[in-house]
Amino acid sequence: MPDTPSDRSEIQAEIQAEIHAEVRADVLVRALAVGGSVRALSLRSTHVSRQLCLAHDASPAGAMALSRVASAALLLGGLIKGREQVSLNVRGEGELGAVLAIADAMGRVRATIDHPRVELVLDEAGRPSLGLTFGPGRLTVTRTMGLKAPYVGVVPLVSGEIAIDLAEYFRVSEQKPTTVALFEVLGPEGVRAAGGFLIQALPGADDNALERVAARVERLPPMSVLLEAGLTPVDLLKEIFDDLVILEQGPVHFECNCSRDRYEGLLLTLGHDELIAMATEQENAEVVCHFCAVKYYFSREELQAIARHALKPGTP
Ligand SMILES: [Zn+2]
Repeated sequence: MPDTPSDRSEIQAEIQAEIHAEVRADVLVRALAVGGSVRALSLRSTHVSRQLCLAHDASPAGAMALSRVASAALLLGGLIKGREQVSLNVRGEGELGAVLAIADAMGRVRATIDHPRVELVLDEAGRPSLGLTFGPGRLTVTRTMGLKAPYVGVVPLVSGEIAIDLAEYFRVSEQKPTTVALFEVLGPEGVRAAGGFLIQALPGADDNALERVAARVERLPPMSVLLEAGLTPVDLLKEIFDDLVILEQGPVHFECNCSRDRYEGLLLTLGHDELIAMATEQENAEVVCHFCAVKYYFSREELQAIARHALKPGTP
């Protein structure tokens, strides 16, 4: 029990920090606006972005790429239901390579990046450009729905900043007029804030509705200013719409689905001879998860045991 004023003030500070953390937790808001004719999703993904950058030891370029692709995947996750999954793969010819994020309808996301430590490429005005860092490339959305064949849509990168590319995907692949914004504020300590929003006209919406919304989005102050001012995802939507109806608010988080069993299964696919060769060459095999950087170790004896279950060459 706290019995001195300093104990009490420490506990008070802890409680305040907890409340603050709760208020600032990552969240995805789903709403309707413009008389129910427009769907709006608003996301705060600060912690997700931070954790991804830590897991992948990302440079500022890697941080921007991971943050935007993972945030975009979380927004896509807000459009699916039940046990569906959606993956967003952005592959460029630049040094970053590919960034892949996989999200589900429960607000979980994981992401991987080919080269997380590359330098940001600057544009002609000397500003850092994620588009130039990605280089020419393509964006692929894959939606998996249980046993049904996955739906795959591919578009060439038009800007490489991801938000415009995702809007282009919706226009070309799904014929849905959509406005997307993705943003992050980077500080010396890493990602200070991150998030985004997605606004989509529903079938039968007034053609001009989205244009008016886009004009209002254009007039918003810079997102970094709004975020630093402490705007919540709901506040952000209120800046854009006068008649917002919140449908749902749910937490989002970084969660990998890897496990030792899963990697054991993966080792099994290497086949008997390869596993025996590994067991002969090394005392321990280290397998690193590309999505969360967790390391799994398999001893020589474990590799030999897995080899006994693996197929031998020539086995039908
Ligand atoms: Zn993992």
